[in-house]
Amino acid sequence: MSNTNVIVVTDTFLRLKSRYSIRFEAEGEGAMRVGSGLEGDNTDAALVRQSDKVFIPGSSLKGVIRSTVERLARSIWAERTCVLFAEEANVGVPCGNATRKRQQELEANTGTMLEELRQEKVQLCPVCVLFGSPLMAGRLKVKDASLVEGHEGRAVVRHGVGIDRDTGTAKDKIKYDYELLEDRPVFSIELQLENVGEMDLALLFMLFSEWKREGLSVGGKRSSGMGKLTFPEEGAAVSYFDEDAGWGLIEMLESDVKAMEWKLFEQKMKDSFSVAARS
Ligand SMILES: [Zn+2]
Repeated sequence: MSNTNVIVVTDTFLRLKSRYSIRFEAEGEGAMRVGSGLEGDNTDAALVRQSDKVFIPGSSLKGVIRSTVERLARSIWAERTCVLFAEEANVGVPCGNATRKRQQELEANTGTMLEELRQEKVQLCPVCVLFGSPLMAGRLKVKDASLVEGHEGRAVVRHGVGIDRDTGTAKDKIKYDYELLEDRPVFSIELQLENVGEMDLALLFMLFSEWKREGLSVGGKRSSGMGKLTFPEEGAAVSYFDEDAGWGLIEMLESDVKAMEWKLFEQKMKDSFSVAARS
C-alpha cells in the first residue's frame, strides 16, 4: 500500500509558516433547529442560543465539516484515511487515531504516543492532521458562526411529541417545544488554517466543491433536509501569510496579511486535489 497520503507532522506547532483565513457569509436554507443548550435536550441541533443571540458553535460546525470531508476522502483514498468513531471501518488504516481501541490507548497514554509520533513510529492520516486527534491539535480552526446583522431570520416555536425512552410506549408521549430559525438567516463563517500542506488544500477543495453543490447540513433533522447552509456564489474572502508564497510571518508582522482572490485560492486547492486524487 502506498504511503503517499500519510503525513508525519512533528513540527506543526513549533514553527508558524503560514496562516490562511477564509471568511464568508452562509445563508440558512430551510428551517434550522435551535438547541436550548439545556441538559436533556438531546437533539442533534447545532444552533445554540446564548444571551439571546443564536449562533453555531465552532465545534459543531467543525464536526459537520469533518464528517463531510471524511466521507469524501474515504471514497477516494479508501483505507488511507480514517473516520472518527468507527469501530471496524478503519481496520488497516495506517493512522495513530484510526480505531476506537487506538483512541483509547492514545487517551490513556498520550505522552508515550506523542514521543512515538516524534520518532515517526506513529503516523496520522490527512484527515486527522487537518482536523486534529488526541495526539495533536488540527491545522484547521473553525470559529463560532454568529448571525449577520439585519439577516437574523425569524425564530418560531413548534410543538413536538416525544416518546418516553424508558418505557418506549406511545401512551407515554411527552410534549415538548422546540425552536426553529426560519426566513433565511445568514451566518458569518470563518475558518483558519495554519501551516497548511498540499493534502490539507486537497481536502478543503473537496469540502468547498461539495458545499457549493449540496450545501452543508447543520442544525438538526438532517434526514428531512432541514437546516442547510449554502456557500456564496462569489466565494470567500481569503487573507493570508505564507512563506512559500513570498509573504511570510515577518512581512505580515511588519505590515499586514495579504488578500487573495477566491478564484486563485480555489485554483490552488484544486491543483493540490488533482495531484493527490490521482496518486
Ligand atoms: Zn486518522
